[in-house]
Amino acid sequence: MAAEAPVTRVPGVGVRAEEALARLGVRTAGDLLLHYPARWVDRRELRPFGSLTAFDALEVAGEDGRPRKPVITALARVLHAAATGSRHPRAQRLVVRVQDETGRADLVFFGGHWRRPHFPEGAEILISGPVGFYRGSLQFPNPDYEVLNREEEAGIHTGRLFPVYPLTRGLTQRRLREWVRFALDHVLPGLADPLPETLRRRHRLPELHRALADLHFPESREARDAARRRLAFDEFLLDQLFVRAARLRREQGKVSRPVQAGGARYRRILAALPFRLTPDQETALAEILADLGRTRPANRLLQGDVGSGKTVVALLAAAAAADSDLQTAFLVPTEILAEQHYRTLRDLGGGLGLLVRLLTGGTPAAARREVLRVLADGSCPLVVGTHALFQDDVRFRRLGLVVVDEQHRFGVLQRVAMMEKGESPHVLVMSATPIPRSLALVRYADLDLSVLRHRPRGRGRVITRVTPEENRDKVYAFLAERLREGRQAFIVYPLVEDSERTAMRAATTMAKQLAARPEFRDHEVALLHGQMKSEEKDAAMKRFAAGETQVLVATTVIEVGIDVPNASFLIVEHPERYGLSQLHQLRGRIGRGEHSSYCVLIRDAGLDGAAVERLERFAGTEDGFELAALDLSLRGQGDLAGTRQSGRPVFRLADPIRDRELCLTVAGQAREILDAGTLLGEGGPEWEPLRCRLRDMLEAAGALVDAG
Ligand code: ADP
Ligand code: MG
Repeated sequence: MAAEAPVTRVPGVGVRAEEALARLGVRTAGDLLLHYPARWVDRRELRPFGSLTAFDALEVAGEDGRPRKPVITALARVLHAAATGSRHPRAQRLVVRVQDETGRADLVFFGGHWRRPHFPEGAEILISGPVGFYRGSLQFPNPDYEVLNREEEAGIHTGRLFPVYPLTRGLTQRRLREWVRFALDHVLPGLADPLPETLRRRHRLPELHRALADLHFPESREARDAARRRLAFDEFLLDQLFVRAARLRREQGKVSRPVQAGGARYRRILAALPFRLTPDQETALAEILADLGRTRPANRLLQGDVGSGKTVVALLAAAAAADSDLQTAFLVPTEILAEQHYRTLRDLGGGLGLLVRLLTGGTPAAARREVLRVLADGSCPLVVGTHALFQDDVRFRRLGLVVVDEQHRFGVLQRVAMMEKGESPHVLVMSATPIPRSLALVRYADLDLSVLRHRPRGRGRVITRVTPEENRDKVYAFLAERLREGRQAFIVYPLVEDSERTAMRAATTMAKQLAARPEFRDHEVALLHGQMKSEEKDAAMKRFAAGETQVLVATTVIEVGIDVPNASFLIVEHPERYGLSQLHQLRGRIGRGEHSSYCVLIRDAGLDGAAVERLERFAGTEDGFELAALDLSLRGQGDLAGTRQSGRPVFRLADPIRDRELCLTVAGQAREILDAGTLLGEGGPEWEPLRCRLRDMLEAAGALVDAG
């Protein structure tokens, strides 16, 4: 049967099943092969009833620290099922007596009389749940169960592991397994393996037929794992090839103006810096300048933890562009940050011949006209701005470089809109959300990567503590001492999801309460949140930066990039609401001056063990990359969807965090294939299936782009 055949051609799939399967994304016979098991049950984990003792019914500490009973899995045969207990059907219990080779047990379903038809006499069932002993007999109260049939036992499930599939209403494991079995027998033989033998051998991968058979019905864990690795390899490879090939195609015929490094302004600004570049900054700068020197549009991501010094690197790139008579637009997500960057860039470059201008939504009309004029006539080489830069009447004479700070705040379309203001300008995006290289390769596959791993030396330490609510007074007392020493502090309240008002009130109330406390009588407590007018926000930020206010009670608007070196104390309320990376971003607001800094997370007393542990791990490290990896391993790979372009393959198995080594290997392999032109016909016939797959994917994506 052809893989494209509608799934209704598979024996036993009727109209109702067709609808149910469609909900799982299964429309063709071939799709059944891609409906991978959610998990596998290992026969060796099955517990014979005779082996169960009162021990197995004892509570133990679960992963979150709470006591719970262990889950026991068993395979048994139904002896009989009977409703007992009460005359009222709803109050009845269904007791199913089952037996395996070593003993008997009762499955007890409270109010579960309606399940009775699920348990025909003699049926094999898989049971899982905690156990108990009642008057000496073994019981499973309200267990999960799955009815298997005898043929399955004999035929499909002889392996040690059997698959458990994601289901939807109207489907059963048993039927799904039969259909998948059918597809393995009748569809799989007609499928060509997209991986040529050369690649399979080099990376020790089983061939496609073996891998799919072993993923669905593995003989052993080893076979299952090898199958998983092989199929994940395919996913990474197709993804990398697709994204890289799409980039090559996009860039075809595009010519950017090259930047000559080492010009006068570049050298003057570099020489005048009040510090030496770190080795990481030097490397990144060299990579960026090499990019800019080509006529191929640069498209680079500069990743660096908060405070790692990305701005200076961007400034020097802009200076080099200016030396080559090219303008730079520096895009920043918020007005506060735009102002701050503007000041930084002006202070470092302004006096040395690099005219810097600021354009935000708050720029007064007359000033705006002036900025538009100097951009249009080319006399201003560097403009810092917010979304205001996207407006149609903002025109450049020779826009050569677009720098995007905190790119996650901007959509792809906005980046494109900016690029259209020049002729294929070079693009440098900067992110302070460090992520492991493997994930960056997937998430930003069409960007080249530079990393600032180590921060400049000579900063004070940041000491992080997690403390329960009852220590609040002590925290305030300690904070008050620091304030008396002349330091400043942030206190951060979370934005409550979809109800910004609530959080705003919290921060507002908090600011009032703090101001009224005796410890803070001699200090100014101010407020900053996202619902204030932008002039108010700016004013509040400026007063804080100037030291006129000592405590800033804020929402996460202070999250990114704010630089006040004298602020050395941070209190985060409800820290459990944030991802570790976000907490790390917040912590980056302090530790910017020479003083020791303190980051205190005040947590609810009732927080569970796992959540406290997570915060403690945050307190234990200052390495943003490590925290990002931890965050991702706790939460899963996150919203790849938002950054995925149309036509890009989906990952069913591959996970750039869990499979990071495989991911890096494949990325290297993909680069090699494209560089060698293997897919352009030089690879011989064994590459044909892969070549076809890639061509189809690119065509589908192209069609989507053209259509939309
Ligand atoms: P990022 O944007 O990566 O968070 P910034 O560019 O704001 O970091 O830099 C943080 C601070 O470090 C700034 O005050 C900057 O002037 C300073 N800085 C940057 N590079 C160095 C360096 N090589 N040595 C010392 N200080 C540096
Ligand atoms: Mg920054």
